[in-house]
Amino acid sequence: MRKMKAFVKVRPESGGAQYSDFDVPRIGAEDVLIEVKAAGICGTDMHLYDWADNIVREYKPKLPLVMGHEFAGVITDLGPEVNGFKKGDKVTAFPILYCGQCRYCRNGEPNICNDRPLLGLGANGAFAQFVAVRAKNVYKLDDQVPFEIGALSEITCVGLHAIDRIRMGFGDTVAVVGCGPLGIIMAILAKHSGAARVFITGLEQDRQRLDLARKIGATPVSVDTEDPKQKILNVTDGVGADVVFETAGSPSGVIQAMDIARKGGRVSILGQGHAPTEILTANLSFREIELVGTRAYTGRDWDKVSSVLLNTAEDLRHIITHRIPLERAAEGFQWMKALEGMKIILEP
Ligand SMILES: [Zn+2]
Ligand SMILES: [Zn+2]
Repeated sequence: MRKMKAFVKVRPESGGAQYSDFDVPRIGAEDVLIEVKAAGICGTDMHLYDWADNIVREYKPKLPLVMGHEFAGVITDLGPEVNGFKKGDKVTAFPILYCGQCRYCRNGEPNICNDRPLLGLGANGAFAQFVAVRAKNVYKLDDQVPFEIGALSEITCVGLHAIDRIRMGFGDTVAVVGCGPLGIIMAILAKHSGAARVFITGLEQDRQRLDLARKIGATPVSVDTEDPKQKILNVTDGVGADVVFETAGSPSGVIQAMDIARKGGRVSILGQGHAPTEILTANLSFREIELVGTRAYTGRDWDKVSSVLLNTAEDLRHIITHRIPLERAAEGFQWMKALEGMKIILEP
C-alpha cells in the first residue's frame, strides 16, 4: 500500500491527533484522487480536534481519521467512470457527502440532507498529501486562482448561500455581527455584491480583526466603545441596516443583529449558537423583521465559486494570516484556540 503523510485524529480526546504515515486512499469507479496543495483549518475541524460533544454527536467520527475539509489541489488519478475531469485539473470539493436520495437532495438542498457525512469528519479528509473524493462533489478552479485562495472555496460558498437566502440587493446597507473569518468573508462578499455600506462589529479584543475589516472596505464598530445601532442610524437617516448577517453564534449577537436591522429588515443567522436566545417576538412582528437560518451551501454556490474567488482574491488574501507546512498542523490548532490570526493554511 502506498503511504502518504497526513494529520490524523487518532484518539477520542482533546488533542489526540498526529502527523503520521497513512495509506494513500484508494479511489472507486466514480472518484478522483486529488493531490492537496493547500488546506484551511476551520472551526468545525477545531471542534473535532477538541473532541467537542456537539460535533461527536452530529458526525459520529470513526478513528483513526484524516482531518480537514477545506482545500484545493490537483487531480492525479481518476476512476474509470469519471467524466469531465482529467489529470492535472486544478480543483476543490464540496465536502458534504450528501446521500443524493432523500427528499432534500432530490430537491437541490443537499446542505440539509438527512444523511450528510462531511469529509474529514465522516470520511478521510484533506489534511494529507492526497484525498479521494467522488467526482460529483469536485469543482474545477480557474488556473489563475492560487491554491491558498482555492482553499477558501468552502467558507466562501457558505457566504454565497447566505447572501442568496437573505435576498441582499444592490445599494443595501449591510451589517455583519462578529468579525471571525466568516464575518470578514460576509463583509467582502456583501461589498462585491453591491452593498452601499458594510459595517462589521467586534469586541475590543478583536482590534486586529476590526483593523483588517477596514482594509477590505468595511466600517468596523467596536461594541465595547461604540453603539453599533446608533452608528448605523446616524448614516442611514435613522433607518437602520437592510440586511444583517449574524456570524457570532451567541445570544447577544442575535439580539444585536435584530436591534441593528431596519423595520422590514432581514437577519441572516449563520452563527451556530448552542445556547438559547431570549427573543421579544413583538420586536419581530411589530417591526416585520425576518430571521432566516442558513446552513452550508448547495451546488448553485459551488458552480460560481471559482469566478467569485477570482474576483475577490485581493480582499480574501487578507484573511490568510498563517501558512505552515502540514507537519506543523498541531501548532495551527493552538493558534486557532488562542484566536491568533484568522485563516491558517496548511501545505502538505
Ligand atoms: Zn469549514
Ligand atoms: Zn440526502
